[in-house]
Amino acid sequence: MSRAAQVAALTRAARFDLCVPESEEGKRARRMPGLSIASGRCRRMMKVLLHGRCAYDCAYCGVRTCRQDCSLSPAELADIFLKMWREGRADGLFLSSGIPRDVDEAMEGIVETGEILRRRGYDGYMHLKVLPGAARSDITDLARVADRISINIEAPSASRLSELAGVKDYRQDIEKRQTWVADAMPGRHTTQLVVGAAGESDAEVLTCIAGQYRRLAPARIYYSGFSPLAGTPLASHDPTPLWRQNRLYQADALLRLYHFSMEEVAGVLDEEGFLRNADPKRLLARERPRVDVNRAPLADFLRVPGIGPKNARRVLAAREKAPLRSERDLRACGVRGRGVGRYVAFGDGDVQSGIFDF
Ligand code: SF4
Repeated sequence: MSRAAQVAALTRAARFDLCVPESEEGKRARRMPGLSIASGRCRRMMKVLLHGRCAYDCAYCGVRTCRQDCSLSPAELADIFLKMWREGRADGLFLSSGIPRDVDEAMEGIVETGEILRRRGYDGYMHLKVLPGAARSDITDLARVADRISINIEAPSASRLSELAGVKDYRQDIEKRQTWVADAMPGRHTTQLVVGAAGESDAEVLTCIAGQYRRLAPARIYYSGFSPLAGTPLASHDPTPLWRQNRLYQADALLRLYHFSMEEVAGVLDEEGFLRNADPKRLLARERPRVDVNRAPLADFLRVPGIGPKNARRVLAAREKAPLRSERDLRACGVRGRGVGRYVAFGDGDVQSGIFDF
């Protein structure tokens, strides 16, 4: 296989690892093989694997089906990335790997790639993956050179993972390593779940992630909707609809950004523990009285659909100077959300009117 074909295969294989929600990746990613458009500081991320073959048996994963020797050495990958960076074609690297022989060897390759890049003057964004079962010393070394590190939990529990992957031990290979990752890079690590491959409900997913945010404080959790791949044991399994993935991101935001409790979020699940295809924040707001713009505390503002943490603080600052009288005053504070007026009131009379109808 030529070098160009290898790079193409390794970047294609990395597409299921997320470093921003898929909905935030731009269309340009499809026109630039190997590049995903990430949000924020890093705008053009090269997502790539070091090894495109894996001896593990995760039923949802296409890398396990690769029979060709598709690998780059750390020095080769560093050369390719530095060339793209210097030419202005990439300004961030997301590096993961299959595990063709043993995990230590694959991890050492990821660490070495990061170290070479830093030695050779690359000072941009690097997100490096921790593989299941990684040694603590390798995790510490990754954290020294990377801006972000992550290990995928893949499933919400040990029993769900055992339905998908016989080799990985959820408690030892993943949960224990997650605590090391959180120690090595507090608040700047992430994780990812595959949604819909193991028949898990959204209640299981949300209970799992509520525990993750409480115990380990990851910066983000990503949801990768299951997509069946030819040649894998789940090839005939139904794909996860995109809306399920998107609703999970919204429910995640309720826990992570808006301080809803798991018990509150559970209130919008159906009898079988699944989210409906509707904005969970709006569903919850229907059960609550209107929020008094001039008196409500921050926590109540955060529960209003269409108001985020930044704008909630702006409203609080503005009303210190003068009472807010209308939606126009809210718009002046940056509140642009559709239908916000249904959830707020500007005086006692409205507030007393309590729960409103739709
Ligand atoms: S460990 Fe599992 S998910 Fe990761 S590359 Fe190997 S087969 Fe795929």
